Amino acid sequence: MKNPGKMLFEVLNHLFKKPATVNYPFDGSKMPKGFRGKILFHPEKCIGCQLCVRDCPSNAIKIIKIADKQFEAQIDLGKCIYCGQCVDSCLKKAIEITSDFELAQLDPTKLKITVKGEPPTTPPPNQPNNA
Ligand code: SF4
Ligand code: SF4
Repeated sequence: MKNPGKMLFEVLNHLFKKPATVNYPFDGSKMPKGFRGKILFHPEKCIGCQLCVRDCPSNAIKIIKIADKQFEAQIDLGKCIYCGQCVDSCLKKAIEITSDFELAQLDPTKLKITVKGEPPTTPPPNQPNNA
């Protein structure tokens, strides 16, 4: 630096400023609004229209019919680019984007997640509840 006075000013100035960094992971980390992290699937809202599958640019999501009006999502977080297109495409709000970014895995198979729909909790009319 050509000007030592300017350097000293900068040093003293930063002594009294709040740090720009966080003590991660001990202090946690709050992501800014609009951050796109791990996606969540809400199977109870899904109607199996496949719009999310069609629009996903990295072929990271599959929606499989497992029973009548019941679907499961197979999401490959290793392929997902966290673009949020599936969230925008889903008319039923069955996919949500979260701020969860701590997804690192030593085992890549753990990046493939399956979220299944639960069977209906109330029995259809005229059928006894076997539970
Ligand atoms: S966030 Fe983007 S890449 Fe990931 S599953 Fe959705 S559409 Fe595909
Ligand atoms: S777009 Fe939404 S409702 Fe349609 S299959 Fe995907 S998650 Fe289900």
